[in-house]
Amino acid sequence: MAKKKNEDNQNIVRCSFCGEPADSSEVMIPGAFGSCYICSSCVDHIHDAVEEFRQEQKRGLKQGSAAGFDLQSVPKPKEICEFLDSYVIGQDAAKRFLSVAVYNHYKRLNQTKDDDVDIEKSNIILVGPTGTGKTLLAKTIARLLDVPFTIVDATVLTQAGYVGEDIESLLTRLLQAADYDVEKAERGIVFIDEIDKIARKGDNPSITRDVSGEGVQQGLLKLLEGSIVNVPPQGGRKHPEQRMIPVDTKNILFICGGAFDGIERKIAQRLNSHTVGYSNTARKGVDRNNFLQYVAPQDLKSFGLIPEIIGRLPVLTHLEPLDRDALRRVLTEPKNAIVRQYIKLFDMDGVKLSFAPEALDLIVDKAIEYKLGARGLRSIVETIMMDAMFDTPSTDIKEFIVTDEYALRKLQEANFEVTN
Ligand code: ADP
Repeated sequence: MAKKKNEDNQNIVRCSFCGEPADSSEVMIPGAFGSCYICSSCVDHIHDAVEEFRQEQKRGLKQGSAAGFDLQSVPKPKEICEFLDSYVIGQDAAKRFLSVAVYNHYKRLNQTKDDDVDIEKSNIILVGPTGTGKTLLAKTIARLLDVPFTIVDATVLTQAGYVGEDIESLLTRLLQAADYDVEKAERGIVFIDEIDKIARKGDNPSITRDVSGEGVQQGLLKLLEGSIVNVPPQGGRKHPEQRMIPVDTKNILFICGGAFDGIERKIAQRLNSHTVGYSNTARKGVDRNNFLQYVAPQDLKSFGLIPEIIGRLPVLTHLEPLDRDALRRVLTEPKNAIVRQYIKLFDMDGVKLSFAPEALDLIVDKAIEYKLGARGLRSIVETIMMDAMFDTPSTDIKEFIVTDEYALRKLQEANFEVTN
């Protein structure tokens, strides 16, 4: 096989890869057209490189398409919780549950297929009054993990064949959030809001078909547990002629949120009935002002979620109602707190905006008075600031202080009480 060129023409044969002359190699292998050669040591190097590449590919396949990250680079539960702290006020229980669930989810993504212990999906359900930060928590998690994220409202979904959106359409939104990169979408997070609104409407399903309640719950099952779902790329109803995109939901994290109005009664009933006939010790520690903290899977069942759905949402946690102190902190403390946003807006016009502490107290008072909760804070501040935002850019004002008198006057001028 070794071939040396004719000594007569004085040309020395060299390896076309490393340039070594033929006489320093065991063998010199010619290419198909005779003008190039490869020496034995380059053959060995290339063989090793190809072997390494094949091994890496095998490892990648074992980890599944959802892998492709190193667990070391994923933030630990404490770090996730600290990140949440900078955007969400309070809600410590929910933050801890979420942080652990998300971390475990990533461990699960990192599992090799031949592992004999299969870590199950840790879909999450958040129970808490409206405007307490359920959506905010889910959004903040998605921001930290840098994965596609979408929010869908469970109330628009109906069982296939009925007016409304097919259940698969929630994956359409995720695909859109991932710019139709299926692999990316398959690692995304879907936040299903108002999950309580698809509770079973009654115990007797025979009177009318429950197409937006139990029917939707049944449809959601296969998405939650993980299966390959054919998704209409443009959403809406499925047409037979439409091209479908198969999406594997095995690694998609589902976070469900709901206010579950009235669930406290069911929790209270359960806690009371448990103590009947026993000593009253179990009842002693119960905080009667906040039953939500004792929420358990059986309460969701009494509320009307089917056991199969509850089983596929194994992480259950609650959110606290926001009291005066929490609302005050929501105004100023989070990284993108409402007050900070307005300061930024004015700063862009070269105006130094500040709020007197009494003005902030007034804003919180109004939010409580009109039962608007955290969600109302923004509209109150917007109402107060509207005139200033309209006028100041055309003036040479350099500083603007919002006092409680100013805030109250603006709310009265805008008939805030009437409009809200
Ligand atoms: P829901 O629980 O109904 O999903 P959201 O998360 O949508 O409530 O909250 C509505 C708005 O109220 C948020 O965008 C945020 O500005 C504010 N908010 C609510 N709860 C909190 C909280 N715990 N910390 C900071 N802001 C909050």
